[in-house]
Amino acid sequence: MENQDTHDGDKKADMNNFWIQPNFWLYWFVFCGIIMGGYFLTASGAYYLLHSTIGKVPTLPLKSKAAQQESETMVGDIKLSVLSVIFFALGAACFMACYDWGITQVYTHWKIQDMGYLACSYIVVLLLQDTYFYFTHRLFHLPLLFKWFHQGHHVSRPPTPWTFFALEPMEAFTQASFLLGITLIIPLHVGVLIAILLTMTIWATGNHLGLQIIPRSRQSRWWGQWCIGASHHLVHHSRFTRHYGLYFTFWDRIMGTQDATYKARFLQ
Ligand SMILES: [Zn+2]
Ligand SMILES: [Zn+2]
Repeated sequence: MENQDTHDGDKKADMNNFWIQPNFWLYWFVFCGIIMGGYFLTASGAYYLLHSTIGKVPTLPLKSKAAQQESETMVGDIKLSVLSVIFFALGAACFMACYDWGITQVYTHWKIQDMGYLACSYIVVLLLQDTYFYFTHRLFHLPLLFKWFHQGHHVSRPPTPWTFFALEPMEAFTQASFLLGITLIIPLHVGVLIAILLTMTIWATGNHLGLQIIPRSRQSRWWGQWCIGASHHLVHHSRFTRHYGLYFTFWDRIMGTQDATYKARFLQ
């Protein structure tokens, strides 16, 4: 009887191994699909909103030179974004492998008392990511690194919703490494991790709309002073030496890279 139980146990363990055995390339393939789907859904949704619902962007005559140029740069952005997907999916597959080995700090259980920590961890990671992004972004603009790390992101001027994920492979690797790194260092609930990834995607899309879509109001001016949006990042795509941040404006203010005329032009 005992033998039978042991045998059944072994059989179950074998089956379990078969079903959940960490398979790095399977993870990579699945995440390629998820991230690619997320990119096309977000970018096409924002593009549709700009051109149709909000109607702020006039649709160019199909055969005009400007329309051809616009579609060429959009195709370039999409190609580079697909390449970025491969690197971000590699980061996600590494995360899954680390999770299977039990070496990440990501956890799934939570209690209502943890709400304070969940909110704090979310904010702390956004602040850390903003800091990391600001300084790596400035490095990428050094003449020695620009071609290898960042040139592709600046091809379209002004940016379009397809541009937010158009990163050179080296830049995609650098940003994906940060996300993997925090999961190894900071205890994060899986829900917070997903919230951070969604925030990053939606915020970066908003930064690359190429124009201000939120009507000017007292509130939007206040947010515009402290948080980065389409108008703030548009300055970076026309003047490469200004506005390097991702979420917040304080690093640009502290480091003196905030455009002196920005407030007068966009926030008054
Ligand atoms: Zn950009
Ligand atoms: Zn840049």
